[in-house]
Amino acid sequence: MIDSSTPAGFRSLGQPTARRIARQAVERGRAGRTLLVHGPSGAAKGAFVDDLLALLFCAGGDSADRPCNACRGCRYARARTHPDLVIGSPQAWRERRSSGESIVAAARRWLLDAAGAPVVAERRVVLIEHADRANEQIQNALLKTLEEPTDRHIFVLVADEARGLLPTIRSRCQPLRIGAVPREELVAFLMEARRLPADQADVLARIADGLTGTALSYADDPELLTWRRRVQAELLSLLERGRAERFGSIRDLLDETVRRIPQAVEQGDEDARTPAAVQRAAAMVLVEVWISLTRDLVVAAVGRAELAPSRQLAPELSALAERIGPTSLVTMAALLERIHAGLGESAAPKLALEAAMLAWPMLPELRDR
Ligand SMILES: [Zn+2]
Repeated sequence: MIDSSTPAGFRSLGQPTARRIARQAVERGRAGRTLLVHGPSGAAKGAFVDDLLALLFCAGGDSADRPCNACRGCRYARARTHPDLVIGSPQAWRERRSSGESIVAAARRWLLDAAGAPVVAERRVVLIEHADRANEQIQNALLKTLEEPTDRHIFVLVADEARGLLPTIRSRCQPLRIGAVPREELVAFLMEARRLPADQADVLARIADGLTGTALSYADDPELLTWRRRVQAELLSLLERGRAERFGSIRDLLDETVRRIPQAVEQGDEDARTPAAVQRAAAMVLVEVWISLTRDLVVAAVGRAELAPSRQLAPELSALAERIGPTSLVTMAALLERIHAGLGESAAPKLALEAAMLAWPMLPELRDR
């Protein structure tokens, strides 16, 4: 978006705590520790990093008004073309390795280059995206670099899962957590940024659980919403079907999700492109949609269907939820959360989904038949 008025300040949404810590870190000066921007996929960490880079490179005005968004520092930082900005990621190291070179060697070479002196700014900003997906050898090389801080470099690590980083790296970082934003704020943002009517913005904000990036991906891809509704409708219909049909159906849903979300697994380390890793990422997306449906059923079961994200389903949901009962739904939601966490730690996707299917309530009518 071209905006000639370029108002000063952060442009990403919410995150008051992360903003405050970032400002303090920058104001305290260059002795600054390594910054770790972390939070779930879909939380719009990229938009926050844009703000952070502008803040770090801004040379305009009073420090309290930074980023000014008008100076060269801000503009080049936001375009990520600043001469003193170095950007790396496991994917970039893999792509840029020379023939016969290992990804570890490529990462080490990159870290050496990154240690060079700044050209125009006071310091270099070394940005490492998907730092949690770097393997242990690379993280150890990174740790060595972080152990010898200079006042001419500041490292910014970005990660979905802070736990994916070595504890020794984490302990050197100033964490900046990026999470959900209040629903009203996200609704207003979607109405403004995507010109959505209030009711539609509200549905997306609920579905996205307050995550800006997720809400925007639904806003920008109407098919994604259709797919999600179809998955949830299928899961509901499985409540009344037997085990064989359930297993067949969940495998089909997984295959379809694999085709649906290739972008979710594009960036990653060496093994992120193996079929198993792609399938695991797809299974996690599927389980997220399933968790959301189960939560809808829980609120419907306790008679608060109007609070459910997918209100279109509400009348049908209430009847089903009543038949299942809140207790087994709450148990199911907890199980799905555990399965989701297990998938994050490399559980086998098909087995995990089958385990979820075994626990998915079977409505009495079927058992009586
Ligand atoms: Zn500026």
